Amino acid sequence: MHTEIDRVAVLGAGSMGHGITEVVAMAGYEVTMRDIEAEIVADGYENVEWSLQKLGESDRLDDSPEEILDRIETTTDLEAAVEEADLVIEAAPEQMAIKQEVFGEVDDAAPNGAILASNTSSLSITEIASATDRPESVVGTHFFNPVVKMDLVEVIYGEATSEEVAEDAYEFVESIGKTPIYVRRDVNGFVVNSVLGPFMTEPAWMVSNEEATIREADAAMTDRGYPMGPFELGDLTGIDIGYHVREEAGVDNPPIIEEKVEAGDLGRKTGKGYYDYEDGDGPDYEAGQGEGFDTLRVEARIVNEAAKLVGQDVATPEAIDTGMQLGTGFPEGPCRRADRMGLDIVLQKLEDLQETTGEERYEPADYLRELVANRETGEEVGGGFFEYDENSDRSSGAADRKAGSAE
Ligand code: NAD
Repeated sequence: MHTEIDRVAVLGAGSMGHGITEVVAMAGYEVTMRDIEAEIVADGYENVEWSLQKLGESDRLDDSPEEILDRIETTTDLEAAVEEADLVIEAAPEQMAIKQEVFGEVDDAAPNGAILASNTSSLSITEIASATDRPESVVGTHFFNPVVKMDLVEVIYGEATSEEVAEDAYEFVESIGKTPIYVRRDVNGFVVNSVLGPFMTEPAWMVSNEEATIREADAAMTDRGYPMGPFELGDLTGIDIGYHVREEAGVDNPPIIEEKVEAGDLGRKTGKGYYDYEDGDGPDYEAGQGEGFDTLRVEARIVNEAAKLVGQDVATPEAIDTGMQLGTGFPEGPCRRADRMGLDIVLQKLEDLQETTGEERYEPADYLRELVANRETGEEVGGGFFEYDENSDRSSGAADRKAGSAE
């Protein structure tokens, strides 16, 4: 059964909660924002007021800030927040115990048929949903920070999420002017963080192994069109954030990342990370400095992650490319770029690396092997992740699957 959404409850008034409240109210919905203390709710509301004022000044609102604020109610009472909600979006702290407690309470208080969404960036939707008696109604809606600016929202299925609930969440995201992508299984990192992982970690392995320097890596990757180098990005997001996510997921952290975390040099927020922001000039690499840095090694691993997701039916190439461009500012989608580079070249690179290092992280994805074995090596031959020649009569299973995926 589909749900008509008029009233939304947002749980949490922190960085994400108040941003989500703002964009939902801007789109015309009635919203109740809830946090655990009146002071926190008031701070969140003030942040919304401030941001709407700014957007109004630059003529980016359809309604006046006052009209939009009129649609927002605040409370500390969870029951009052959700009892009439058609959609609940949880944006509480990133801890499974908290999420499960919140979802248990929401399950008791929200109407039947309400959609229960979590904004988690790394926790399992399936596990969160298990705290309710209606896991089919639970879905992930992963907004990006800052919510007002970032267009992407990952719509994530838990094991039990119904098609209707995922579709309603997807349409809701479109209705607030954002771009949704489906993540059809709640794999660790969902789509964007999974594919971004190697962008951050492979250069860190190379620096740890003294095969490159931080500045070479950042210069080379920005020369490839990425908006920021991997180390610069690590400093911006906080080196500890990715570190903990990898720890939780059982993924090895490269030594240079461990060292930084142990030393408390976590990036911009501590004044020092890979670069020095207090006594130095921050990222001070220069264009051209990365000549000789092996960008293919990094991009081959990025493509491999994308191929795993396609092969496991987690996401389509279209969804991955949209996600990476809108979610991280990649200059072009990794699937499209790989098709231009040649999937055979990507596969060869991974195989060579695996052979010389013996490291598991280079193990090529089955789907990548399959494409190359089918001679679907990219744009030059008319097909790879995507099809390029409309008149082509190739009809491999892989091509059919891709063609049928309107995202
Ligand atoms: P935050 O710490 O800024 O805000 C969390 C808020 O939740 C706090 O105000 C806290 O008081 C409140 N809270 C605690 N228990 C609660 C409860 N039982 N009910 C309602 N509110 C409660 O955190 P954030 O950065 O806004 O992150 C919220 C969620 O969004 C997390 O799951 C996080 O992983 C995810 N997320 C964060 C970002 C980001 O860049 N900050 C990006 C995408 C997703």
